[in-house]
Order: sequence, then structure tokens, then C-alpha cells
Amino acid sequence: MGLTRNSKQGSVRRASSSEGFGSASSYSNTSSFGSLADLGNDNSPDDLGNISVVVRVRPLSEREIQRNDDTIIQVLSHEQIMMRPDVRANGQSAITGSQSTFNQTLTAKSFTFNAVFDQTATQSEMMEKSGVAKIIAMAMEGYSTTVFCYGQTGSGKTHSLTGPPHLDQPDPFSEEHGLIYRAFVHLFDRLKEKSKSDCTYIIKASFLEIYNEKVIDLLNLSTFKKPLQVRWSRVAGGFYVENLFTVECEEFDDLLAVLEEGMKNRAVGSHGMNDYSSRSHTILTVHVISELQASEEGVYLSRHGKINFVDLAGSEMTKKTNSQGKTLEEANNINKSLMVLGYCISQLSDPRKRNGHIPYRDSKLTQLLSDSLAGNGVTLMVACVSPARSNLSETLNTLRYAARAKHIRNKPVVVMDPREALILSLKREVMALQEENVHLRNLVDMEKSVNNQQRPSTSVIRSATPAEEDLLIGAALTTPRLGDLPTQEAQELLHSLLQENRALRKENTDLYSLREALLRQQEAVTKQNERLIKQIEDCLNNLSCVFTDLGVFVDNFCSYDWNIGRVQPVSKFESQFQFNLFLGNIGTEYTYNPRASNWTRSVQQYIDK
Ligand code: ADP
Ligand code: MG
Repeated sequence: MGLTRNSKQGSVRRASSSEGFGSASSYSNTSSFGSLADLGNDNSPDDLGNISVVVRVRPLSEREIQRNDDTIIQVLSHEQIMMRPDVRANGQSAITGSQSTFNQTLTAKSFTFNAVFDQTATQSEMMEKSGVAKIIAMAMEGYSTTVFCYGQTGSGKTHSLTGPPHLDQPDPFSEEHGLIYRAFVHLFDRLKEKSKSDCTYIIKASFLEIYNEKVIDLLNLSTFKKPLQVRWSRVAGGFYVENLFTVECEEFDDLLAVLEEGMKNRAVGSHGMNDYSSRSHTILTVHVISELQASEEGVYLSRHGKINFVDLAGSEMTKKTNSQGKTLEEANNINKSLMVLGYCISQLSDPRKRNGHIPYRDSKLTQLLSDSLAGNGVTLMVACVSPARSNLSETLNTLRYAARAKHIRNKPVVVMDPREALILSLKREVMALQEENVHLRNLVDMEKSVNNQQRPSTSVIRSATPAEEDLLIGAALTTPRLGDLPTQEAQELLHSLLQENRALRKENTDLYSLREALLRQQEAVTKQNERLIKQIEDCLNNLSCVFTDLGVFVDNFCSYDWNIGRVQPVSKFESQFQFNLFLGNIGTEYTYNPRASNWTRSVQQYIDK
């Protein structure tokens, strides 16, 4: 694919085609950072590590206005939003005589988020107040960050990320540019500011799409026919997409070309395979690799930060749309990944469950977002909602989903290769020893004692043998400087310095052996992990057969929307068959007794904290 952009500033070069989207959670932790919880301000200790959630309410659409749909959303403050389905726009009650006031769907509900944007919020306000600037700052420091938009189809996800559909040929001054374009501008502004520091930055980008559980590279059209594989990286300790193009971007325009190329190919794909643009998830990843010179001998410390911009597909309801055949498969796959995502969020937000098994492997989307959701990443969720009464249940689901995501706690750490950190510490040891040697050599005045022979290089560290040590002491005692000291005292001083030197040398050797042992240990653990993962995959494959049967059952017998629930098989015994169905914050347990051929049901309510 010729990825060149005829712009005045630069061209896009392909950098690599191996590990593109990946995480690196196994890398060592050098420092941790707070969350975006407070967005533009200083971190508040209570919110450290939590996923940051903002909500954007779009204006009523033309169609909604034409059919006199009324607004059921009130934005109470910068952080609070209220659903008032009980009141009509004209102030009259929406509850008719036949409806009970206890009707759940018509009850007013309020939610608090990190920020709430009403119908009038502009794209630039979104950029300023949603916390994206902080996400960029953290990516530049080496954190793995994610901005993801969630909401029903037509709620404004793509609008918030990339702008309205007619913004195909971006006018650089358009007010309509979404968060991605604005984030690119902000990133290159920050890079320019840092251009005089010791740190050098390399920017790379990739753009992929998940459609029908298949990963398509939006920068490589051939993958429309042959999708890419998601694999587990032993080295990085996370999932990545094999053979995904990662393009090096030297200039702002290069990054913009990646965005344009991906958006264009997404459209090309959608013509060839029906209009699925809102039925696929897209992930645009900007890698920010920084290199800092850590010592004068050319030791560099590299950090690998990244920003994932995720545009999730809108949820589809198979029952409502009467989907069949291919459309049904599409809808089920969209729902599957959203359902798995919802389930992962639900597990992660529950302190009792977050340390248990989180089923990231159940969908491509959750595999690729695992690091952002609960690993070492920093995540900003932009929940998009429609204000219209006709979308009441979807809006309520989105707000509940978002409220749950707010409870997830991440452990943001800078991605840094542990070997680089170890080498750096060993280098420091070596430098300390070299200084020690120089000091000793000065004391004994080697130049005199070896009859004006050339002084040995101080950069080579070699252990002095006991005989050499005696010689050194002897030589030192004959020099005028040390000779001024009483013999006993000078001897003791030199002994202590040599002992110190020996200890440092030993410590250095120990560190090297420790490093070797660590590497061997790491390899053994990785191998063991791979075996376990294989076993888990086998188990999950068996489980998914059960899951499919249950899915058919739920689809046929339960009147719930797929996008808000998840069927979790619990156990399969001879005498009974049990599974849980999570819908919003209601957990329903179904038990099937084959002997009696009947199902029993018990309901548990989870209280959102
Ligand atoms: P989604 O990606 O969630 O399916 P879109 O972003 O495509 O939805 O939005 C659907 C339509 O609504 C588009 O025409 C978009 O331009 C418009 N829209 C969405 N959000 C806003 C907003 N905040 N202001 C103006 N128009 C919006
Ligand atoms: Mg969209």
C-alpha cells in the first residue's frame, strides 16, 4: 500500500509490520501516576487509578425534532446528569393514570461522572475539559492510555472522536474537528516544546477495525480478505495484533494521513461489505516512544507510551431488529464483544471479583483493551447519549454502564524494559568502582612507582590479587603523600579502601548473576504461563459450546437486550444446569433441572457504589 501523502510537510513512512497494537504489562514499574479523575486539575487521592468517565449528550436530531420527541435528560452541573422520564418537556407528568408511579423506567435517576457535557458543548470544550490533554501528557511519560467512546448507534461516538461525516477533507481550522484531530495537534505542540530537552520522541501509528470478530488493518486493504491474528506477546506480557502496520510519523501531517487513510479504507470496506461502519469497532493507536540518554557512555532509557482511540460499535438488538442470517451474525458479534466488555467492566468494578478471572479472551475487543481496562493503563471513557425519550432504555443502559466503569481501578505504570533498568543500575556500580580505582591510584601515585610508565586505563575494572594489593600498599607507603602518615594509619586506610573496592566488585558480580537468574526465571514463568493459557483456551473452547446453547436459550426465552447482559455459565452437573445472566445491575441466576425439565430463577440486585 502506498501510504504517501502529498502534503507540504511530509510523507508517511512505514516503520514496521510486526507487533503493532500491544501492551507491555510485564515490564517493570518505574513510577506510578495518578488518574485523570479530576481531568484538568491535580489528582485527588480518592480517585487515583480509577477509570475516568465523562458523558456527552448530543442535541436532538432533525428526525427526533420532527416526530416531537421530547428531551428526558437534564444536566444539573459539570458533573451531574439526571434522567427525567417522568416529566414531559412542557412540564407535565409523563406518567399516565394506568401506570404506577413505581414504574422503574419512568423514575427520575441522577448520575455523577468526572464531567458532563450538555447538548451545547463544542468540540473544543470536549478537548479542553474531558482530560484528553492529560492522557497525552501521560502517554508522553510512557503510560499506556486509552480514550474510548461508548453509546448506542447514533449517539455521537464518531462525531466526538473524528467529527461529523461531512468533514472528509479536513479544513485545519474547522471547529468541527473531533478529539482525535485535536489530540494530534496537542501532541505535536507538546513535542515541539520538548524538542530542546534531552529526550527524543518517535511517533508511530496504526489503525485497525474489529468487524465480526475479525481484525482488519485499515492501513492495509489486503486484510479485508485475510484478517489478522491477535496473539499473546511473551515479551510484552499482553495481546497484540500480528503483522499490523505501524507507520512512523515524523510530522503532524503524517499522523493525519494515517487517520484519513484509515477512515477512507473503513468507508471502502463498508461499501464492499454493506454499511457496517457503525457495526465495527475501530482502534487508532498512537505510539509515543521516548529515548532519554541515561549516561554519557551511550546508555539510553526508552519508554513506550501510547494512546488508543477506540470507537465502539453501537449496540444492536437482535429481537428488536428481527436480524437474521448475516445481519444476525454481525449483531451477535457486536453484542458479544460489547457484552464481554460489559462483563469485564462489571467484574473489574466489583472489589470482590476484580482479582478473579476476567474473561478478556472471550472477545477480540477485550483482548486488545485488557491493558487499558485493568492493567497498567490510564483510561478515559466518553459515554455518548441521546437526550430523546425514544432512546430512554439505551440511554439508561449507557449511563449505568458508565457508572460501573467509574469504579474500575487501574495501576498506571510507565512501560520500561526491566533489562534496561538493570543495566543502568549496573552501569552506576561500574562508575562507582571506576571512581574508587582512580582515587586509589592517585593515593599510591602509580605513575611514580612504575617509573614513568604509561598509566593503566582506569576504565578497565580488574580485581587486584592479594599480592598486587600488598604491592600497592607497599608502593603507597613509599610515596611522599602517604609516607607523611604514620605507617600503621596509612596501612589501615589503604586496607579499608581496598576492602570497600572488593565489596563493590563483589556486589557488581552478584548483580550480574542476579540478572542472569532473573532472566532464566522469567523464561521459565513465561513457558509455564503459556502452558496455562493453552489449558485455559481449551477450557474456554469447551465452555463456549455450553455458552452457545445458553445463548440460543436466552435469545428464545428471555426478553432482555443482549447488549446489557451476559450469560455466565456457572456449572453443569448431572442433576442441574446453572448460569447467571447479568442485566444492568441485576444478576439473575437460572437453574435448569433436566429431570423435572424446568427452570427456576432467583434475582440478585447489585448496588452501585
Ligand atoms: P455514532 O458514531 O454513535 O453511531 P455519530 O457520531 O455518527 O453516532 O452521530 C450520528 C449523527 O449525529 C451524525 O450526523 C453526527 O454528526 C450527529 N451528532 C452526534 N453528536 C453530535 C453533537 N454533539 N453535535 C452535533 N451533531 C452531533
Ligand atoms: Mg459511529
